[in-house]
Amino acid sequence: KITIKSDIEIAQSAKMLRIEEIVGQLGIDDEDWEPYGRYKGKLSLDLFQKLQTVKEGKVVLVTAISPTPAGEGKSTVTVGLGQALNRVGKKTIIALREPSLGPSMGIKGGAAGGGYSQIMPMEDINLHFTGDLHAITTANNALAALIDNHLHQGNALNIDPRRIVWKRALDMNDRALRKIIIGLGGPVQGVPREDGFDITVASEIMAIFCLANNLEDLKLRLSKMVVAFDYDNQPVTAGDLNAQGALTLLLKDAIRPNIVQTLENTPALVHGGPFANIAHGCNSIIATKLASKLGEMVVTEAGFGADLGAEKFLDIKARYAEINPSAVVIVATVRALKMHGGLPKDALKNPDLEALEKGMPNLEKHLDTLKQFGVPVVVAINKFITDTEEEVAFIKEWCAAKGIAAEEADVWAKGGEGGEDLAARVIEVIDTEENNYKPLYELSLPIKEKVETICKKVYGAGDVQFSPKAMKQLKQYTEFGWDNLPICMAKTQYSFSDDPKKLGRPENFTITIRELKPSIGAGFIVALTGDVMTMPGLPKVPAANNMDVTADGKAVGLF
Ligand code: ADP
Repeated sequence: KITIKSDIEIAQSAKMLRIEEIVGQLGIDDEDWEPYGRYKGKLSLDLFQKLQTVKEGKVVLVTAISPTPAGEGKSTVTVGLGQALNRVGKKTIIALREPSLGPSMGIKGGAAGGGYSQIMPMEDINLHFTGDLHAITTANNALAALIDNHLHQGNALNIDPRRIVWKRALDMNDRALRKIIIGLGGPVQGVPREDGFDITVASEIMAIFCLANNLEDLKLRLSKMVVAFDYDNQPVTAGDLNAQGALTLLLKDAIRPNIVQTLENTPALVHGGPFANIAHGCNSIIATKLASKLGEMVVTEAGFGADLGAEKFLDIKARYAEINPSAVVIVATVRALKMHGGLPKDALKNPDLEALEKGMPNLEKHLDTLKQFGVPVVVAINKFITDTEEEVAFIKEWCAAKGIAAEEADVWAKGGEGGEDLAARVIEVIDTEENNYKPLYELSLPIKEKVETICKKVYGAGDVQFSPKAMKQLKQYTEFGWDNLPICMAKTQYSFSDDPKKLGRPENFTITIRELKPSIGAGFIVALTGDVMTMPGLPKVPAANNMDVTADGKAVGLF
């Protein structure tokens, strides 16, 4: 019997370099970074100015087929590919999101890659890291306090307390806080009203944090956030409350990108982590851009499947950051494809070519979508020990028949060495295939047409219905001048449709747009389909129940 080490056991037995060595290898001057302990650092924003004339490296985006509970391993492949590219001689830097404690305590356990493709120190990264999430939570709640104080002090802005859209935030899965009543207890305790909590990563401040290009841009975006509507139904912004200065101050250190290393000492910038439904699901623009100045190549990741994460990376992030992505790697697994082909979760370890073949249309649709963006694509088959040779060969042949590059990635078991073929293939595709990257829609299109474009071209919907509420909002948002922004779709990640049970490649379905939400600071309009969770709950047996710390201070159970 082979014993498989857990992610945390592998991480704890790894040999980390002091962070100054990692930073030193990148040629960063002493005044341009600051150590946060022995193995973490923060880079200065001035560094960006200094590197202004340096040519940007190539940005490779890692995305995946529609996620299943079987797990796809996007972060694992991102880290493994970064390590592999370094092994084959390309100076590569990884750019990843920082984990949220809510999902870690709930079901995920951690989000720092897996096996021999992890970023370290994984315990710190998964727990409090450098305090960025704390800073974002605090900025969010400072604004909430300013709003309620404004009501209490006479409400000069004429805010309708029933139309306050800004919520409080906490970096925890805590369903009991979704809807609350505040301000009870009489006149000195403020104005009673209904309120609620979102998880910090769903706060618009997190999205702004990840889309801002510098401190001034951060401040400007923070000032534009819509916090409420007044009694005349006109928007009230954080700028109207003169909150942007304090909020930017609270974020001034957090906004500097964190630098850490992988198990193979590849540098990784780990910075920001917005939800991929209500927000765009990618690490900060500042980190990705800085990584592209410091390395020949950057490997970065976007949340959920390519219909959500990659679409938002290519339509929102890359557009705002003026990044021209060189290639997209789409992670597929034999297990998840079999699940899309109808196999139940407990049967996924059984070889089943028929189910695999039936699941391929899910990958096919994602490939069609990426083609529409004009970027070169490589399929990475993330190898699990239960995969058979026949199954892997089937996927490779299926891709070859369509002229699509595909390689197996054994980075979970072997680290960078297991990803060398994939790395070589990515380089080859970048060097030989044409790149005509272009966002899918023009910003000048009406909101409705932009939403329809995504639903039809990316999801394959036959029809798009807007609820009466959404129709009213379309008109209102256009009047407010918010119609020239990109769209951020909030849809289930499990299906192309808005029904999480329709796996594979559903066709001729109707998407219903229930409601729109203005994220004017972040710079997008959220289109909500179905129920979107902005404050998750914990499962019956939370991952937290398996966590512990030993007498000598070692973390246990962070996967
Ligand atoms: P994602 O980024 O898609 O959410 P992760 O990379 O975080 O996925 O991986 C999720 C979990 O699956 C991690 O615990 C990781 O160790 C595990 N995992 C990923 N790839 C493999 C693999 N090839 N074999 C076994 N476990 C894997």
